[in-house]
Amino acid sequence: MMYTIDFILKLFAGDPFKIFDKDHLISELVYDSRKVLSPAKGLFFALQGVRDGHDFLKDAYDQGIRSFIVSKVVPVFQQWDDVNVIRVEDVLQAMQHLVQHHRERFNYPIIGITGSNGKSIVKEWLFQLLSPDQHVYQSPKSYNSQLGVALSLWNLSDHYDIALIEAGISQPGEMQNLEKMIQPAIGVFTNIGMAHALNFESKEQKLNEKLKLFQHAQTLIAGSTYIQQQQLNQEVKLITWGSQNTDHVQLISEERIGQSTQLNLRVSEELYSFLIPFSDKAAKENVLSCIAVLFQLGYSMPIIIERIQHLRPLEMRMQLKKGIKGCSLIDDSYSNDIASLGIALDFLKQQNQHPKQTIILSELEGLKESEKMQSKLKDLLSAQAIARLIWVGSNFSWLNELPIADLQVYKDTYTLVQALHQIPFANESILIKGARKYEFEKLVQQLSLRSHGTVLEINLNALSNNLNTYRSLIPPDVKVMAMVKAFSYGSGSFEVANLLQFHQVDYLTVAFVDEGVELRSAGIKLPIMVLSPDPDTFDSLLKHQLEPEVYSMEFLLEFISFLKLHAVKNYPIHLKLDTGMHRLGFFPEEIPEVIEHLSQQEEIHVQSFFTHLVASGDAKHDEFTQSQLSIFNEAAEVLAHGLGYSFIKHAANTSGIVKWPQSHLDMVRLGIGLYGIDMDKKLANLEQVSSLKTTVSQIKKLSKGETVGYNRSGVLLRDSLIATVKIGYADGYNRKFGHAVGQMMIQNQLVPTVGVICMDMCMLDITGMDVQVGDEVLVFPDIYVAAKAIDTIPYELLVNISSRVKRVYFYE
Ligand SMILES: *Cc1c(COP(=O)(O)O)cnc(C)c1O
Repeated sequence: MMYTIDFILKLFAGDPFKIFDKDHLISELVYDSRKVLSPAKGLFFALQGVRDGHDFLKDAYDQGIRSFIVSKVVPVFQQWDDVNVIRVEDVLQAMQHLVQHHRERFNYPIIGITGSNGKSIVKEWLFQLLSPDQHVYQSPKSYNSQLGVALSLWNLSDHYDIALIEAGISQPGEMQNLEKMIQPAIGVFTNIGMAHALNFESKEQKLNEKLKLFQHAQTLIAGSTYIQQQQLNQEVKLITWGSQNTDHVQLISEERIGQSTQLNLRVSEELYSFLIPFSDKAAKENVLSCIAVLFQLGYSMPIIIERIQHLRPLEMRMQLKKGIKGCSLIDDSYSNDIASLGIALDFLKQQNQHPKQTIILSELEGLKESEKMQSKLKDLLSAQAIARLIWVGSNFSWLNELPIADLQVYKDTYTLVQALHQIPFANESILIKGARKYEFEKLVQQLSLRSHGTVLEINLNALSNNLNTYRSLIPPDVKVMAMVKAFSYGSGSFEVANLLQFHQVDYLTVAFVDEGVELRSAGIKLPIMVLSPDPDTFDSLLKHQLEPEVYSMEFLLEFISFLKLHAVKNYPIHLKLDTGMHRLGFFPEEIPEVIEHLSQQEEIHVQSFFTHLVASGDAKHDEFTQSQLSIFNEAAEVLAHGLGYSFIKHAANTSGIVKWPQSHLDMVRLGIGLYGIDMDKKLANLEQVSSLKTTVSQIKKLSKGETVGYNRSGVLLRDSLIATVKIGYADGYNRKFGHAVGQMMIQNQLVPTVGVICMDMCMLDITGMDVQVGDEVLVFPDIYVAAKAIDTIPYELLVNISSRVKRVYFYE
């Protein structure tokens, strides 16, 4: 659906700052100049978040965008004649207003889903449950914010019978805006927990805010423990699930059978009994929500039960993992629709580890009937440089028109699995994206490297969030150098670096030349500083454009001679000053001599000058920190004067960023904070980036007095239930965690280790718990506590996680 600029101008009652073509047609909302699909039809909204969209107008223009919504007039518009610029008070509100208008064109029911947890899973399950007989639209992934909801609703079209839209809030006042856009006829409230309580005064305030989504709804579906009728507008009909006999869907009893659960329900005076393939409380509650929704929509219980039994515990997030033969897999095998395909393609572009890209794609739900959808899909796929497309589903003639050298079509997943070994996959990125019923997890199984049951999950969204959090603490013109040394503090090299490159950090830093080379071969173009370059590696340094830290006179002279030999001029280096760390670096009194050497040569250019704070987070040493900074500033002045040119000055590490604004200078060096660790516990909105997870391989009932593990040191003081898990000191789980010093978490309960830690395994005391083989175990429920228990710091625990532990990256 398209809108003209003229229409939009009138709708916003905005100020027509410059109108080149009032009939220009718009069909795409653009909020990020890096994410544009069809620029000619794009309308750019200069949103103001951590970054100011007004700073990216030129980027957007260069991408081909000609229509802009802004809140301030920027000089750059004077250069262009062929643009439409509308000025409004509030750009986000304008976007939401347009979306509201768009939404009001459709009369089919919209189900609005909110709650603290389970929103995405309930949405996805409802999608699966309704899809057999309806055209269902669901908002992609967790697009549930002020911007996310707007973008989701923008995709509504005549093609659908019903839509599922997720809404999330993080502070008071936000739900009102979402409600205006979504206008749900049916509401689903999943639950309330403590997540995001941060910006609210109380749980009640948070709940009341969430309930605003349903103020004009006809029906609300919720657990009776969470919501009562008196909390709602009288006109809203409340349908409840729970264990009381007043509930519309009443859970009478349940029984765990292995990883499954048998539920016994009463619905409209009838009793039903069936098995679901889950055993955790959250999944059971989400199932009850779904049953109540379907029941409310008029489905009969036998149909509901039949469909519910096919639900699977699905990975909701896109995952990036290592594949066979050097490939990287982007596994998004749980859904396929235009919107989420767009996101997956974006991610593929962003994670450009291999020049060659393959996409394995199933037919979209409903594609057959809709020509419009086919042409959208064709547009999406043509915009990407794809070497190989493997299509599963009906053969469409337009597939052959795509600019793809290697196109293969399979009628179903089974046929493709049979043929998989004949396809010469090697060193490429493979995006696997299929609708649920195609069961592409079978392909993922074949194409991914096996793990031994222990994985480090890395949440790339959390990493982005943390980067933004620190960016918001520094002035916009201060550069960010991101520390990716030691395998990005244990969380992976090019996967993390690619994300940082996408977010346009200014510099990356590694410890050794090898680490830099690895990043370069994975397509990282950002400037890279090397902290401890070895003279043996100068060749490689030069070849890969890596920039050394220079910390001593010998090193300086050696590097200059090397560059002379290779006739290289103006090579960027980073001079390190020792202001108290006493590790590497020149002393301030050596600076005059450094200047002397530098002024007699042209091989080296001082790109930056820096020092490292010794105890920036520790109040005891504030005076020392201050003296470090003044020594540094003084030396920087001497150096600038001596060289006759300026350079980037930097000093702050993570704690410095938070605690010492005067240390921000021209650039900050962000390390541990990026990975979600705040040693000073000052930042509330950092998110945990990595979770180390293992699994239970065996469970034993043992009697009081028996022993567990080597040397019989794990003596049992009571009859016990003992679980063996697949992680040991070879994986980086320190031997000091033995004998209950370490605590892991199963089903939200802390469980101590028993006996010594073995090389590949260790044992946990799970007495009194209902644990099954295969259950997931969180190794460091609280990494600060774990570090303290063995007298170390979180940094060490993270970087010691062995490289044999498979890293899996998530992106939403
Ligand atoms: C590792 C390192 C940092 C980052 O320190 P964090 O405490 O992790 O933020 C900054 N500068 C230098 C020189 C480093 O070696």
